Amino acid sequence: MIIMSATATGEQIARVVAEVIKLHLEPLVIPGAYRSIIQTVGDEGKTDLSSLSSLPGVKEVAVIEVPYRLINRECSSYANQYDTMPVKVGGISVGGHYPIYIAGPCAVESKDQILYTAAGVMKAGAQILRGGVFKPRTSVHSFRGLESEEALSWLAAAGRAYGLPIATEVRGEAQIELVAKYADLIQIGARNMYNQDLLSKVAKTGKPILLKRHFGASIEEFLMAAEYIAACGNTNIILCERGIVPVGKGRNYTRYTLDISAVPVIRKETFLPIIVDPSHAAGRRDLIPSLSCAAIAAGASGLMIECHINPDEARVDAKQQVTLIDLGLILRACGGVWRSLYE
Ligand code: PEP
Ligand code: MN
Repeated sequence: MIIMSATATGEQIARVVAEVIKLHLEPLVIPGAYRSIIQTVGDEGKTDLSSLSSLPGVKEVAVIEVPYRLINRECSSYANQYDTMPVKVGGISVGGHYPIYIAGPCAVESKDQILYTAAGVMKAGAQILRGGVFKPRTSVHSFRGLESEEALSWLAAAGRAYGLPIATEVRGEAQIELVAKYADLIQIGARNMYNQDLLSKVAKTGKPILLKRHFGASIEEFLMAAEYIAACGNTNIILCERGIVPVGKGRNYTRYTLDISAVPVIRKETFLPIIVDPSHAAGRRDLIPSLSCAAIAAGASGLMIECHINPDEARVDAKQQVTLIDLGLILRACGGVWRSLYE
């Protein structure tokens, strides 16, 4: 890691980048508000970079021995901050001062459904509209989403109608180009967190990415998956905690176990924003208000909540989707929690 002094010029940074390339390493300039940092990718720390320390503008050359250094708070200009690096999704900053709410149905089911939902999502106070078109499902016999460009265009039109950027999932490499054409935020689902080729290919679209934690992944594995994306030069990453596999009889009560402690841990480890999806964690709508408030209290940069115009009729995840009225009440409660703790 090459730490530039706060007053380093663009020219000085470019010179260091050129020298790094000469050493046959791939340089990555880490964005930061207070100082610039240049890291190298793919070298396992074997190359001696100490010669670079005498270049103009270089403050320090340091060796880092953590598995995820590109997204590491300590290795960034956010080192001494509780701040997160805001990720821009359309006109919305995720990880800025205020919590951001992503809401929408599990799946886009029809043009009218997503349009009515978008209206309710906006009215409830959420800023980003979600909706799955390519759904990963455990059973091949289940509804896997409408899986069409038309459905993506309905989602995009609904978002546009109410001024909401849209988030939707890419299930496999084959859909990246199509999904990137419409999505403001590309979701990589829990089941794909370990799919490193998919992570890299989606990263290369340059679009902001919503990376969900696999339900069996440790926090370190989760962050190392994000590191794959960052290594492709894309640090527009929003992390999402969505519950891990419950222990024993825990399964009788919730679909997964929301790992609330992951939120403050991840905030300490990385400058990337972390949001919480209480819907998939709980698997039941009655728990969404309390889990949402808990996530905001724990320091989440936002939430992703599934909602539906008629939850009981939803084609997928019916039990966990809340009504649009309840969404408004939940977000209002979360706003109260946030103001009481952070304002
Ligand atoms: C989803 O957000 O629609 C989803 C499928 O979530 P996960 O990947 O967390 O199961
Ligand atoms: Mn769902």
